[in-house]
Amino acid sequence: MSYESPSALAGATTIGGPNSNKKSDCLALEYCSFRIPVEELNAIFRHGQKDVERTATQVSKASALLAQKLANATTPIEKAAIRKNFDYLLKQVREARKAFDNSCDAQLEQIEKIINRCDRINEEFEVTEETRPRHAEKMERQQHGRYIIWHLLRCGYVKSAKILVRELNFEGLIDVDIFEKVHEVEKALIDRNTQPCLQWIDYHRSKLRKLGSRLEVAVRQQDVIEMVEQGMIPDAVQYVKKFLTPIAKANFPEELKKTMGAIACTLEESRQRNPELHAPDRWDTLAENYMKEVYKVYDWDLDTAFSTTVQLGIAIHKTPSCKPDTTVPLNKVKCIVCRPDIWPLAEHLPCARIENSRILCSMSGELCDDDENIPYLFPSGHVFGKQSVDKLRRGENQVWDPVHKTMITDAEVLRLYFL
Ligand SMILES: [Zn+2]
Repeated sequence: MSYESPSALAGATTIGGPNSNKKSDCLALEYCSFRIPVEELNAIFRHGQKDVERTATQVSKASALLAQKLANATTPIEKAAIRKNFDYLLKQVREARKAFDNSCDAQLEQIEKIINRCDRINEEFEVTEETRPRHAEKMERQQHGRYIIWHLLRCGYVKSAKILVRELNFEGLIDVDIFEKVHEVEKALIDRNTQPCLQWIDYHRSKLRKLGSRLEVAVRQQDVIEMVEQGMIPDAVQYVKKFLTPIAKANFPEELKKTMGAIACTLEESRQRNPELHAPDRWDTLAENYMKEVYKVYDWDLDTAFSTTVQLGIAIHKTPSCKPDTTVPLNKVKCIVCRPDIWPLAEHLPCARIENSRILCSMSGELCDDDENIPYLFPSGHVFGKQSVDKLRRGENQVWDPVHKTMITDAEVLRLYFL
């Protein structure tokens, strides 16, 4: 007996409500298009605000200086005498104005990017089979192209992703540069260089603080351990004082204690006490932790849109009787889930909830029904439609069983009924 799955998503609860199959339900998969520019916009705003505050402080300092000069004067002051102070104030005002303009421009650029993406994606969703059938397939290809690009970028295949971006004309629609940077930092950590990671932390500092991240502590700790390993104890002490104590004292005192311990005792002793600090794969672990933090900062799901759609596509075909079928060549396996190359992906997925199963004839693959093609169960356990049974009939009360390769009687063939 074979099952045929109902159309994708039927019976599932989706964004548009129970059993919705509106095209816009897929919008959730476009998360990456908007989540990254929104996070960038946040970061630009935070940095811009800091710059504006800094320059504003300079303006008030300069104006206080000028006011001080004028305050105690009892006689008219010469222009030249206050010129220097006034010029300084003017310079600070200009700096503040520049900081404000820069921040606004950068924010507007991000907002423009988000609006452009909304327009492009909206255009795709407006084109349907009904409105413009010839374009519908192209638009669907574009959507899936985007899912594949994000997946490639998440896995670190930036070069391939860039080629696909060019081919599909997706410039401005996908933040390749952000992923490129993230993977550069990851690679640098594996190559035992913490500098790019520290710069990344600096850029996302306030967000990381909000998340209660201990990434900076771990990276700084790594620098200290590297110094300890190389016997640079005075440098390690200086480094802890300057960089680690201010960030770890309040929230991560245990980490600080451990690091100080590594400096205080001999290398051998430290290796025994805190083997994880000296583990050979600690750089790889640090790179992994960095990637986890990136996911948190950008609020990415562990699964990409591509992997979600692939899993959904496979699960919708999965039945309890599916298992890898190695008896026939790959292109002859009738069920997608039973293909030995797909099975490893399908193995841990749930089975589809199929409410209206359909019976297909084992011989012709045609759909069985209650009128033209009534289903019959053979002793081999296979179901054949009436049309095939007619072809297998070899005379009065004689039917050929193609699976057991024997002649059987009509009494051995059971008619099946639909409930
Ligand atoms: Zn199967």
